[in-house]
Amino acid sequence: MPHIPLIAGNWKMHGLSQAVSEALAIDAAARQSSARIALFPPATLLHRLSQALAEAGSSIITGGQDCHCEADGAFTGDVSAEMLKDAGAGMVILGHSERRHGHGEPCALVAKKVLGALRVGLEPVICIGETLEERLAGETHAVLNRQLRASLPEELTGQVFHVAYEPVWAIGTGHIPTDEQVVDAMVLVKSYLEERFHGQVTPHVLYGGSVKPDNAAHLLTLDGVGGLLVGGASLKAADFNRIIAAA
Ligand code: PEP
Repeated sequence: MPHIPLIAGNWKMHGLSQAVSEALAIDAAARQSSARIALFPPATLLHRLSQALAEAGSSIITGGQDCHCEADGAFTGDVSAEMLKDAGAGMVILGHSERRHGHGEPCALVAKKVLGALRVGLEPVICIGETLEERLAGETHAVLNRQLRASLPEELTGQVFHVAYEPVWAIGTGHIPTDEQVVDAMVLVKSYLEERFHGQVTPHVLYGGSVKPDNAAHLLTLDGVGGLLVGGASLKAADFNRIIAAA
């Protein structure tokens, strides 16, 4: 399993041109860290941000927040993995709960998008997570296993990809799972990966959901947590840099 944590900031639908200076301020902290740092700005900022970071000699990886599974075509409003790559991306978030639940994306579509990302060498960060109703109904393990099985395409073998465990009820709510709940999910993901890939892959398994500067260090000490996917607290360098410093 990888030893260097991956700290990823998902800016969601936030950020205008001025956000480039925020990314450069994040780069200042990234330079002091041995962690891999990734930023997922909105598509409109991806090229500008990637270029500014590259010009500054930054090691921050940029990524898209979603992609279409096809390379091009009549898909109004969509962006392909090829386009993300062309704009400077090295990664792409796929299957985020805001896509699964807000846009009705099923696991089978997520799996196709993963193949699209791998086609051009983007590292997919594949998100899974149960809703509160599913957790309360005792279905967490079944949901996570089902999402893993169906969102990781059959063609996946030794390529580089990552998995983010993001309980839907923890995203943007300030509610953090207990340590036991996080570790339980990490064990499940890692067992699944081991059983399916027999040690051929070494994905980062991230925790995401209400990560803040004050809980990041603790979350990173939990067994199996290989990094963090951060939403709200990645928007301001002042917050995200404290999370980077915790890694
Ligand atoms: C996310 O959207 O991936 C996320 C984890 O959001 P937040 O950190 O704001 O809960």
